[in-house]
Amino acid sequence: MPERGPPPFPITLLGRRTDLREDPEADLAKVVAHLEGDGVIAYPTETVYGFGSLGTLSGIRRVQELKHRERDKPLIALVPSAASVEALEWTDEARKLASIFWPGAVTLVLGDPRGIFLSGVRSVDGTVAVRVSPQPIVGRLLERLGVPLTSTSLNEPGREPARSGTEAAAVIERLGRSDVWLLDGGTLPESSPSTIIDCTSGTPTVLREGAVPVGRLRRVIPEIHGNHS
Ligand code: AMP
Ligand code: MG
Repeated sequence: MPERGPPPFPITLLGRRTDLREDPEADLAKVVAHLEGDGVIAYPTETVYGFGSLGTLSGIRRVQELKHRERDKPLIALVPSAASVEALEWTDEARKLASIFWPGAVTLVLGDPRGIFLSGVRSVDGTVAVRVSPQPIVGRLLERLGVPLTSTSLNEPGREPARSGTEAAAVIERLGRSDVWLLDGGTLPESSPSTIIDCTSGTPTVLREGAVPVGRLRRVIPEIHGNHS
């Protein structure tokens, strides 16, 4: 019997892929149905590519599995507006930050005493990290879904997040996942992930300096705590 060589073309493990640059509305209804079936998408945000799902138990679990994510590191929730998460605990400083930086790459950590978000988005300390993204595809999806979308950077453990649809596809293939629907928005401008700010007490604390530098936050809230000047 002849020895079996490699296949004549690479076997692609990638599932569905929609090119947003051709038609941003293409497949949108199907992508929403995929999400509503607790499917995972890969999508561009205003910073880097992310994995996302509905904030349901199985949606969250599927993203956690993909990221080999420890259950104690929660996912970010992308929401359509500050008003949509009015039931979270808003400090005056958090309101100010949201009014100036949203939509934008600033993620606010707020208390969720009523348990609006499920564990995996809601941290064990009862807080959630929320953001309004200016990325048009995120807005379109949220409008159709009517519920938040989870978000976590699209990368293999310890590696940089994907910045293009091609990089995202390569990561998904390496992870061996054919159940992820990739929304390819092309190459994103160079950006760090979002800046994360803990707003659960009076004076906000920068937990991760990202796309929005602490200096810009200080112009709005001079006393903000951060590791950087
Ligand atoms: P990623 O690692 O790409 O999932 O980015 C999400 C980041 O948000 C992680 O660093 C999480 O630790 C952080 N994060 C999410 N939810 C919270 C929260 N409730 N409190 C503090 N940090 C959070
Ligand atoms: Mg990350």
